[in-house]
This record gives sequence, C-alpha cells and structure tokens, in this order.
Amino acid sequence: MDVLSGSVLTDDDIISGYVCIEGGRVVAIEEGKPSETPLATGLVMPPMVNSHTHCADAGLKIRPGMTIDDLVAPPNGLKHRYLRSLTAQQLENNISRYAEISNRNGIGIFIDFREGGEEGCRILRKTAPGSVILGRPLSEEYDYNEMNCILGIADGIGISSISDMNTRHLEQIADHTRRANKILAIHASEKEREDMDLILSLDPTFIVHMVEATDSDLLKCAESEVPIVVCARSNRYFGKVPPVKRMLECGADIAIGTDNAMLCDPDMRSEASVFRDILVSQGGLSGDVADPMLRQGRKILYPHNKIHVSVGMPADLTVLPCPGEFQVDRMLRDRGGVFRYKPETGESK
Ligand SMILES: [Zn+2]
Repeated sequence: MDVLSGSVLTDDDIISGYVCIEGGRVVAIEEGKPSETPLATGLVMPPMVNSHTHCADAGLKIRPGMTIDDLVAPPNGLKHRYLRSLTAQQLENNISRYAEISNRNGIGIFIDFREGGEEGCRILRKTAPGSVILGRPLSEEYDYNEMNCILGIADGIGISSISDMNTRHLEQIADHTRRANKILAIHASEKEREDMDLILSLDPTFIVHMVEATDSDLLKCAESEVPIVVCARSNRYFGKVPPVKRMLECGADIAIGTDNAMLCDPDMRSEASVFRDILVSQGGLSGDVADPMLRQGRKILYPHNKIHVSVGMPADLTVLPCPGEFQVDRMLRDRGGVFRYKPETGESK
C-alpha cells in the first residue's frame, strides 16, 4: 500500500490526514497521521486544471509594454505572425516543452485556445493528447465543413473576442458547437467592456478575463452560472487589474488560467500568488484563492465529480508541498517540487 499524507482536498473541506492507495486506486482517506511512511507530504489533491492557456506561443520572446492590439489581436498581432512563421516541428517543440513543464508543476490538464484552425488542433492533439483543445476557425464567414473538421479533433471552440466577428457568424459558431455537445469559451471584456447580453446569449461554457466588466455584468455571469477564468499575470502585463473581489462578491464561479505561454509559465502557484495579492489589495481574504486555484478548474470539466479526492477514484494525484498545517499562504510560499502519483506506474516524481 502507498500513502500520501499531510492534508487532503476532500468533498467537504481540506482535512489534516492521509490517502491510502492500492492497485492504482484510492482505498481510504483518513484523518490524523499514518503509521506507514508516506511517499510524499503536502496537500494531496487531483491534478490541477489550468483553465486557460495558449501553449503554442511558448517560444516567443517579447519586450515589456506591448499593447493587446500589437501583441495578441488577430490576425496580425505579433503572436499571430510568429505562429504563422513556425514549422509544424517548431510548434510541436513549443507545445511538448510546455506540456512537460505543466506536468512538473502539478497540472494534469490545460484548456488551450488553439490558433491555426483544424491543422493547429491536429498538432496539439498529436503532441499533448490529454490537453483540452478549443479550436478557432480560420474562415471569415461561417464554414460548416471547417467547423465539423475542427470539432472532429477539438473539444470545442475558443473565440478570441465578440468584437473580432460579426454577430451572425458568432451565433452560427455557437449553435454548431452546442449541437456537437462541445465546449464554447470566449475571451470577454479584456481590452474594453463588451456586450454581456450578447456574450451570454451564445451560451458559453465559460468566459475568460472580464477585467473591464461592471458589477451588473458580473452578476449576470453569476446568475447564468457561467464561470469566469481569471488570468491575473497576463492582465498585469497589459497594465490591467481584474476585479477579483467584486467577482467573488457577485457570486460568480472563478477559475484560474495562465494565458499566453509567451507571457507566463504554466505555474498555478505563481498565478494564484498574483491573484491572491490582488484580492488582498482589494480588501478580500487571502484564503479565498484556494477554491479558484484548486477546485474550480476541475469543476468546469467535471461538473459533478472528480473535483476532490474520493475513495475508489484512480490514484492520479498531485501533492503540493505545504509545510505544517494547511494554509493557502504557506502553500503558495513553498516553491518546492510537486509530487505526481500516477495509477498506471505507481509512484513518480
Ligand atoms: Zn487568452
């Protein structure tokens, strides 16, 4: 039997205790200290979900102070010119390096907005098969066949912004994605405030950013149960601050993503630290970063289960170092190596 100890993310709360594993499955969760020597100590939890990434631009070096338009706006922002200049092999190299670092940092799945149409999705699926891929059509008008091809490979569609497309086209893409029972996600109110009623009428699975959202926009998200993914370090690069305390007060579900690889490494502890600092500066509580960091990303993908450690689940687990009794600040301060336990191979570091 293998044991992981310290604290455990359970259905109810984070408890002081340990997890027992046999035959690749969690067979017990107990409070207190184990009699066996644990393989690793810290916060035991399912691997984190990084809820918003663009993994392929990992190789691009950028100078400080670029604007959203100059850097990421399609079709001719620096990022898009860079991606078009790469060979398939160079893209694969960027993606595989990114996936490896994500895994080392305790991230099980990243939800990627993949540029480059069908071919872009194909390269990501081949290189990082476990990622959640949200593709983007290349056609300027709705193209039924292209949508079918993208959705045949991808898990859904990631729309760069409602301001980049006409409403009819957006609705056709949203309808097609919904009919295919796939994920629809949208960058929303990043550079400037966008029409929340139009965004919500597309019935997105989740939206990203909401930096320029009003309280009324945030309340509408909460009422519609559309989660918001916050990317605080990426916003900071562009001189923007997400209203995280207001988001929480409005009752919205908040998850965390690390956004463009050229701006931020795939490290949820670094990302959550910046989120926490902003939350505290806005008068919020440091501990309120735990739920966005640890639970909400998995909840987007698995609304009803697999969010916590539970008896009977495959022992695909992450242990984040956290000295002593669990405290969010202690966990974010400790940058020691993350331990990964995989059911098929037993222990792994
Ligand atoms: Zn993004």
